[in-house]
Amino acid sequence: MSKKVVYHISGFDCPNCAAKSENHLRKQKEIEHVSIDFQNEKLFITFKDKELSIEEIKERIAQVESDELDISLVSDKKKEEPIFDKEFFINLLRIVISVLIAVFTKIFVNYHDNFVLALVLYSLATLICLYDILFEIGRNIIRKNNPVDINLLMSISSIGVIVLGTLIHYEVLPNGPFEIDLLDGALVVALYQVGELFEHISTNKSKRAIKATIDLRADHANLLEGELVREVNPSLLKVNDKIIIRVGEVIPVDGIVVSGSGTLDTSSLTGEPLPISVKENDEVLSGTILKSGSLTLLVTKEFANSTVSKIMDLVENSGEHKTKTEKFITRFARIYTPAVFVVGITYALIYGFVTGVWPQAIFGGLAILVVACPCAIVISVPLAFFAGIGLASRHGIIIKGSNYLDSLCKIGTLFIDKTGTLTYAQFKIVEIHPNNCEKQELLDALYIAESRSNHPIAKTIVKDIDLSSFSGKISSYEELPGEGIRLNYEGKIILAGTNAFLSKQSVICEDIASSGTVVHVSKNGAYLGYVVLKDEIRKDAKESIEKLHSIGVEVVLLSGDKKEVVEEVSSLVGIDEYYSSLLPNEKTKFVIKSLNKKKLVAFAGDGVNDTPSIVAADVGFAMGGIGSDVAVENADVVLMEDNPRKIYTSIKIAKKTKHVAIFNIIVSLLVKLGVIILILLGLLGQFGMIIAVLADTGLSVLMILNSLLLFYRKID
Ligand code: ADP
Ligand code: MG
Repeated sequence: MSKKVVYHISGFDCPNCAAKSENHLRKQKEIEHVSIDFQNEKLFITFKDKELSIEEIKERIAQVESDELDISLVSDKKKEEPIFDKEFFINLLRIVISVLIAVFTKIFVNYHDNFVLALVLYSLATLICLYDILFEIGRNIIRKNNPVDINLLMSISSIGVIVLGTLIHYEVLPNGPFEIDLLDGALVVALYQVGELFEHISTNKSKRAIKATIDLRADHANLLEGELVREVNPSLLKVNDKIIIRVGEVIPVDGIVVSGSGTLDTSSLTGEPLPISVKENDEVLSGTILKSGSLTLLVTKEFANSTVSKIMDLVENSGEHKTKTEKFITRFARIYTPAVFVVGITYALIYGFVTGVWPQAIFGGLAILVVACPCAIVISVPLAFFAGIGLASRHGIIIKGSNYLDSLCKIGTLFIDKTGTLTYAQFKIVEIHPNNCEKQELLDALYIAESRSNHPIAKTIVKDIDLSSFSGKISSYEELPGEGIRLNYEGKIILAGTNAFLSKQSVICEDIASSGTVVHVSKNGAYLGYVVLKDEIRKDAKESIEKLHSIGVEVVLLSGDKKEVVEEVSSLVGIDEYYSSLLPNEKTKFVIKSLNKKKLVAFAGDGVNDTPSIVAADVGFAMGGIGSDVAVENADVVLMEDNPRKIYTSIKIAKKTKHVAIFNIIVSLLVKLGVIILILLGLLGQFGMIIAVLADTGLSVLMILNSLLLFYRKID
């Protein structure tokens, strides 16, 4: 039995270190699957049979990683640490002191007359910003880890500048065309640390801004105890507790209205802007806001199982499944840094041997090393995917993993279910045709048959029919998805379902040419007649299909209903290809048959019987509101508003996200490449080092901002 555990993990210096640890854990024999979400500080492990303790996990990671890590179970949730913590202020102080010393030296110490003092002061300024980095390198070497990372390159560059300047001063090396200033050494690390600080704040801030906007969890609930109302933490509520909701409050848990009425703003949950009104016996979902009225609710789900908590869990855990782009950049980062190292050294050697001006050759080489940090890409790209998931969730679309953002972009065919997906699944009985019996006899049999089913048809029938008597016992009951119901009531076999279903059991029934859904009924082999039900097409259905066509997605309707109904719905919403009278497994076969093509296949449905198809498709959509729990649980994308238009919205969001990620990768690479080329050509001269560090840290900040902006984009 494998077991999945989610931990909170923090303390990694960079995504690269996290990737290294992830790879190492993957090799452990106890572990079946592992993933680290650096951005959201999560560690996901599926253990084969024996679970490792947190201490053991720490020990295993320590074999390859020197960072001091903090690992805890997600269930013992800790308060989020402040962004501006002690460490932040210490680092800020280090930078300020270091820069002050450097500037003071530059202005007040005469470089040539008082070289030793200048050297001491510049070295001090450099070391103040560098000491922890040097420490890190030392630990890496002691633990025999690969030491070629950005820390090493930054240290070589800054110390290199100081050594170089000193050698020139004492004329060990000749002076070249420009003077090498020791100031550069101190400035490079100081700027690098400023960049690190900025990255830390901006990624943390953006993540929190995104989470805060989509986090609709209430922070309190008004528990009704007898006549008294007590304010409690929502996590303390139990099923069957009664709570009071006042105007302006967020509904803390899912429940049913037991008294009162009001209007709810569901926009934050479903993206639907119009308020909906609720009254006694209506279900309400957590995360919606009471706009007017007042409600007393009976709690039906505890806080942790309520809609809003589940959504937040999904969003926070979406980083477990990484996109191809993210995997690519982790691999890329691993080769990029050493590659730049080689370029730097090669440049210094060639330039040195060709021109003989060694100080400038070495200086250029050192400047190249400074561009070697892939941070701009490594940090901003996963952030873009997180922003994309956040953006989707603001539209009421829950995407369960960043990897589905990749797949959404590649959807070529969408198979869509009819009832509940393109229609509201709110049937009305429009015709009743008894066959050689009283009308009530037909209706009674139908009611008894449908009384246990959760199918939308059954719910309507139970709601709309008044029963004359129903006191007997149902001794056997079978529901055949897509066909109908067969049961034994007081020794009599009742069948209700499609023509084909009854015919299969030797009941001869009429073939009805109606554009409504027909349910035939029989009792003990005698055909009792049929009822016709009408469903309403969703108001956005036609536009949704048009939108999907406009982005090149082919839409195919798969339905269990009969041909006439499916034909009519298809023509009304503008679908050219449709298949009717399908059993659930036949729908799945359609999906499977279309798999393994270049373009991906999606399936959108709502019912339990759609679940196999939702699972089989590359991307499975489920209707979150009316959809059955199994369908929602197994889907990759959940549409909270039950609106097929959101299929289009989610594809659009995925495409925008992908664009931002790719833009960030390309711009970062071009800028870095550009700076390297300028240095190689010797065009940057003595400014090479400063420009290089700006191209590194400044660029990171810009790319991070670009990712964050995605969250605020408008989607049509
Ligand atoms: P869809 O593909 O449109 O979502 P289903 O696969 O759920 O529809 O059902 C297909 C057909 O099977 C229905 O149109 C109905 O005729 C019949 N059917 C399914 N379940 C029931 C039921 N509980 N009672 C009566 N008929 C049913
Ligand atoms: Mg359905």
